[in-house]
Amino acid sequence: MGMLEGKVAIVTGGTRGIGLAIVKAFLEEGASVALFGSRKETADKAVAELKAENADAKVVGLAPDLTSYEEVEKAVAQVKETFGKVDILANNAGISARESIYDYDPKAFENIINLNVNAVFYCSKAVAPIMKAQGGGSIINTSSMVSIYGQASGSGYPTSKFAVNGLTKSLARELGKDNIRVNAVLPGVTRTDMVAALPKEIVDRISATIPLGRVGEPEEVANAFVFLASDKASYITGATLTVDGATQV
Ligand code: NAD
Repeated sequence: MGMLEGKVAIVTGGTRGIGLAIVKAFLEEGASVALFGSRKETADKAVAELKAENADAKVVGLAPDLTSYEEVEKAVAQVKETFGKVDILANNAGISARESIYDYDPKAFENIINLNVNAVFYCSKAVAPIMKAQGGGSIINTSSMVSIYGQASGSGYPTSKFAVNGLTKSLARELGKDNIRVNAVLPGVTRTDMVAALPKEIVDRISATIPLGRVGEPEEVANAFVFLASDKASYITGATLTVDGATQV
């Protein structure tokens, strides 16, 4: 029996990268999954590919604008209508930045906060009453190792991930009484499309600085989500779990 048998999950940013690995891992462990993508076409494409791999996969795709609370609330209600409940929310959608403060368009800073922070709050706010009425649930946020170290450019990104940790710890304290656990996973450099597109020398140089000697795989990050989503993590809340091969900056 899978670790998430009978559970219903929402995964934001579930169309590729770490999010898609989370969706696959949740499906493998027996959950029903609603993946949220940024566009309906990419969400539908991801669902079609997952169903081509396994025709019985219980997966649907939606594309609410995560920066609009109204759209998020509607999409979450639709998931509840489709699957009957919501047990797990993986707040994974995110964008990063590299701009120096000298070139940083204030609008770009705002956009990153809107998606990486506000959307996490919106999705959590929309699922919390459903989880409370059901007797509990698990919210897991994709933070980053930069939420420990900061980053020497693109300051909106680390700022957003420090905020994600703050929201994680605060909601864990607030929602504990409703048996809703809230945790964050902090990946290090992970082999998603962006890393896969880098020249081998650069990936080798990054890998040499990591004690485990390599970058992480999306599936290794997804395994942490499975554990935190499962009943095996029933006393774990407010945690920030690094999955970074002991990266030190
Ligand atoms: P990715 O770019 O491959 O995927 C990002 C996902 O977010 C996609 O599914 C995309 O559809 C979604 N998304 C982007 N903009 C959106 C929007 N406006 N509305 C809705 N969805 C949107 O990136 P990834 O590397 O898989 O990143 C996933 C998460 O992991 C992010 O929160 C990122 O900050 C975090 N992270 C990644 C790494 C890494 O090395 N890849 C390291 C630490 C943390």
